[in-house]
Amino acid sequence: MRSTMMRYPLVLPRALERAETLYADREIVSRLGDRSLHRYGYGAMAGRARRLADALRKAGLKPGERVGTLMWNHHIHLEAYFGIPGAGGVMHTLNLRLQPDELAFIASHAGDRVLIVDDVLLPLARQFVERTGIEKVVVARISDEPTPDGYEDYESFIADGDPAQPLFEPEDEFTPSSICYTSGTTGRPKGVAYSHRALMLHAMCLGMKDGWDLGQTDAAMPIVPMFHVNAWNFPYASTLVGAKQVLPGPHLDPESLLDLMAGEGVSITGAVPTIWFAVVDALRAEPGRWALPPGMRVIVGGASPPPALLRALDSLGTVPIHGWGMTETTAGATMAHVKPEMADWPRERVLDLFTERHLPVPLVEVRVVGDEGEAPWDGAAMGELQIRAPWVAAGYHDAPGSEDRWTDDETGSGGGDGWFRTGDVANIDAAGFVKICDRTRDLVKSGGEWISSQDLENAIMGHPDVKEAAVIALPHPKWGERPLACVVPRAGAKIDAEDLAARLAAEFPKWWLPDAYEFIDEVPKTSTGKVQKTALRERYADWRWEG
Ligand code: ADP
Repeated sequence: MRSTMMRYPLVLPRALERAETLYADREIVSRLGDRSLHRYGYGAMAGRARRLADALRKAGLKPGERVGTLMWNHHIHLEAYFGIPGAGGVMHTLNLRLQPDELAFIASHAGDRVLIVDDVLLPLARQFVERTGIEKVVVARISDEPTPDGYEDYESFIADGDPAQPLFEPEDEFTPSSICYTSGTTGRPKGVAYSHRALMLHAMCLGMKDGWDLGQTDAAMPIVPMFHVNAWNFPYASTLVGAKQVLPGPHLDPESLLDLMAGEGVSITGAVPTIWFAVVDALRAEPGRWALPPGMRVIVGGASPPPALLRALDSLGTVPIHGWGMTETTAGATMAHVKPEMADWPRERVLDLFTERHLPVPLVEVRVVGDEGEAPWDGAAMGELQIRAPWVAAGYHDAPGSEDRWTDDETGSGGGDGWFRTGDVANIDAAGFVKICDRTRDLVKSGGEWISSQDLENAIMGHPDVKEAAVIALPHPKWGERPLACVVPRAGAKIDAEDLAARLAAEFPKWWLPDAYEFIDEVPKTSTGKVQKTALRERYADWRWEG
């Protein structure tokens, strides 16, 4: 027999229609370049997204063609999130922290035809657009400067669009709606083309209690940029459920973020640990200045947080939720939640576990594969984390030779067992909690054994005078590689290397301990705020171990 259910495709226009129908006045608040707050509801947002879709079609955009965005987090970017796929186009979110050469490469590789750019980012756009196939640049004004001559203003562009025209209906839910390039922390950027289905299913997952429990009563603030991994799917998930959206624009200093959290009643927000360090410091520096909404969920991801960070967030009255994800996994794939048998655990114990470990969310399958095949779930056996889910990439856009990232060498759906090889080293405990130990290439391989640079960093950052730390592997004549610890002391603090070594000796085997400590002013960061170990390895390329 056949099922008797509807063939109802999971496509983005359904999320927009629901929000404009049920939540027309539910607010979307954006901080603009001049610090003013822009407010409107889903009804107005959807109307403008529809205009954008029709204007793009009138400008000649064909289904499947790419439209780049070079924008901060604000309402016009949200309109593009729906308007570009609504025209049948594929939105290509460009990372505004990349160098012009990298942007030229990515925009050309993706085949971008149109670019929507914030006025404040035009100086950057001018440095790469001519080297790409971009034929039209549309300028979104978020400052009070007029649009420079020779550029089309976003407002006049969408004024030509008819909001009554129907949005593009994809033939099937696997049609691409957006593309994002990996940020290239470990190699040449590669494009991941997301389908309507992947984004919709992942958005539904975020609405689950064991996802983010996102719902209509939430006020959601993605600090994670909308150019990075779909802002962890905040925009689509928030629209699907009709949550209020709070978008911080270009002002990412902790004071501006805290003003918005307190002023707009933010109930859920997300960013990389670097942002949370600064927010915690600001809260501690001025206790009482901000009344944060009680129980605000703080999504921490993108890099490993040291234990002190989750504890600090927890003690400040927020609820930290640590998760892991990659460009290739649409957004978060594992999240730290309490299992029923942990109900009576003291909070400290829960936080210690959550700093390190998280559970795969529903529909995500994980396994760890070491030299001897699939590793047991014993909380110790390390290997490469492999993953599959309806929202995990099955290949990269136009990247021949990258097939070995999948255990199925056909890279398409179907055939083989089709696991994505994440390049992260992990172990899984008996309860199914995953611990990301390191990136494969950040592990220190000493005398044939693996040392987790991440574990050492987190322990070093437990020292009250340490602001940040990064442990890197450097070649060693006897051991192959040995760890070097690069440590940033807090302002005015003096740290004794022996003191640090003694702390680590209490926690790790002797052969794990860094052979040297370098005290530096700053840890280099990637465009998404992650520690850039390649830069540190280059800096110490000529290092000679003593003795
Ligand atoms: P890039 O590899 O360029 O940083 P992504 O933004 O896709 O690109 O980042 C994915 C990577 O970030 C993961 O493979 C992992 O190494 C790291 N990562 C993400 N979340 C976490 C986390 N919670 N703990 C440790 N590492 C993480």
